[in-house]
Amino acid sequence: MSAEGPVTALVLAAGLGTRLPGSSPKGLRLLAGEPLFIHSLLAFDRCDRIERLILAVPVAHVATAQQGSRGRLTKPLEVIAGGERRQDSVLFGLQTALNHDPPRSIRGRLVAVHDAARPFPDAELISRTVEMARDKGSAIPVVPVTDTVRQIDPTGTGGRLVDRETLRFAQTPQVARLDWLLEGYRRGAAEGSALTDEGAALELAGRPVVLVPGSPSNFKITTPADLAAAEGILQPQLLLGTCIGYGEDRHPLEEGRPFILAGWVIDERNGPSGHSDADPLSHALVDAILGACGEGTIGEHFPDTDVRWAGAAGLDLLGRAARVASEKGFAVVNVDAVLILDSPRLSPHAAEIRRRIAGALGISSERVSVKGKRSEGLGFEGTGRGVSCRAVALLVRKASA
Ligand code: MG
Repeated sequence: MSAEGPVTALVLAAGLGTRLPGSSPKGLRLLAGEPLFIHSLLAFDRCDRIERLILAVPVAHVATAQQGSRGRLTKPLEVIAGGERRQDSVLFGLQTALNHDPPRSIRGRLVAVHDAARPFPDAELISRTVEMARDKGSAIPVVPVTDTVRQIDPTGTGGRLVDRETLRFAQTPQVARLDWLLEGYRRGAAEGSALTDEGAALELAGRPVVLVPGSPSNFKITTPADLAAAEGILQPQLLLGTCIGYGEDRHPLEEGRPFILAGWVIDERNGPSGHSDADPLSHALVDAILGACGEGTIGEHFPDTDVRWAGAAGLDLLGRAARVASEKGFAVVNVDAVLILDSPRLSPHAAEIRRRIAGALGISSERVSVKGKRSEGLGFEGTGRGVSCRAVALLVRKASA
């Protein structure tokens, strides 16, 4: 009976989730700023008992899901189009798993089927479910029913009490041999039977349904209240993973130089002098972003003594700084910058500058603020000898990091 082969995790995010208001399918709804399915994929990616991942999403969302998972996982992921019902998506996923490594014997292979609506499958739960399925061929995690249960009476009277000791709630991941699951789901498709979970498919195939303890934290998101509870669980982690950075830059002004901010010319003459485009806004933002993720300074990453960076445009360096942050596991939440200068006026150009910065950072313009501050004749900025810029950036650690 024992199954020694590789384990594939099949995460189901193709359902519409009609009890959750909103237009996007449930598995793609955001939790802590990320699609629900990412949380499950990351949990399986971290578990060393899982070898590869399959994600089923509605056909219209395959490309988005592929894009959203890129660079986040260490294990191979295949994104597939799910079906109309859960059982259709499972069958597509099982067939995809079957096509992986075809020379290997199907008998030893396990599939862990998981609903993306459960974003917190912990490593112990995944491990004990896989271990039990290795030994017995199947494992379904269950938790006790803690509320009193009453079977309602269609006539409108009070119904009758049910002994809750005999009841269990079934969770996912439900892990079983690939051949058994295929048997059950194929038979279900042929006979037109409704299969709500892998336990039902195993029963239909006449295979044993083995129970293992589930986990109370592995709850299912069905209503807006469940989503709010999940946000509440992730909130402290979010705060710990939130980092702020600060950057400054200043340049002398020189007659005849263009004044460039984020690649946009705000004045043809009397711009900042320096190597490349001497863009104080982009340079201050680069330092703020690098500072937030503990990555040092613009001079360390892009030294002007290096021929690669000597002529680099500020906006290009900003895009590169955002990639440094992303590779370190951070996403930029928002940036705010102040340019201290008396002329030219910044406000006519602010919208275009914000749009360009937003593009370089891969965030929306609403999350970019750029403003000018007059120096009222004080300091080098007020006497027209130079310009300075101060910037802050807020970064958040992505769920995988
Ligand atoms: Mg500079």
